[in-house]
Amino acid sequence: MDNNPTSEVLENLLDEASVATQPPPPPSGGIPRRWVPFWVREPIKWLTLPFVLIDLSMQKIAKKIIRPPFKKEGSCKRRGNCCHFVLIAYSKSIIGRLFYFWYTQFLGFYKRYPKPQIYEGKKMYVMGCRYLRKDGSCGQYHLRPLICRQWPKIDYFGYPKILKGCGYRSNPPYPFDAPDDDLSEASDPRLKVLH
Ligand code: SF4
Repeated sequence: MDNNPTSEVLENLLDEASVATQPPPPPSGGIPRRWVPFWVREPIKWLTLPFVLIDLSMQKIAKKIIRPPFKKEGSCKRRGNCCHFVLIAYSKSIIGRLFYFWYTQFLGFYKRYPKPQIYEGKKMYVMGCRYLRKDGSCGQYHLRPLICRQWPKIDYFGYPKILKGCGYRSNPPYPFDAPDDDLSEASDPRLKVLH
């Protein structure tokens, strides 16, 4: 494992993701085709939707009862930048492979780089999303995964993961008190991680 908590490639992507005005180009060779057919994928995604919504509602209720140390304020500017680079943990276990299969074959993510990168000390694949449109909107808004509905995520532990310039901010501010649209300042943008 690399001693650097985040690889240089990812450090550069983090900077890129916060200021980009359009989605990054597809990987060389294009966006890979999925072999699970549409008529299998779509009904299964609709069947799982109630569980996603229940999970989301339960989390919202829990956060009203026990409030996290940071509060999410603001609103989405619909730039789509938080969808440019999405991370998925590298794992050779059966669970890890199933997880990867679900996110790639069903939820539409694809590898941007063939090799995993180190992010916060862990090996991660950097993914793109085939549903991200050029105008920053989501092509599968009603079926988008839980992490996309939660983003930017405010957890009970750790710090808020907010991409600089996205329109949201944390209260109290993290990592420092800077205007949201001041992209020239040093920032601590974070990437979506698929769980
Ligand atoms: S599913 Fe939609 S919201 Fe989620 S990463 Fe893809 S384009 Fe973005």
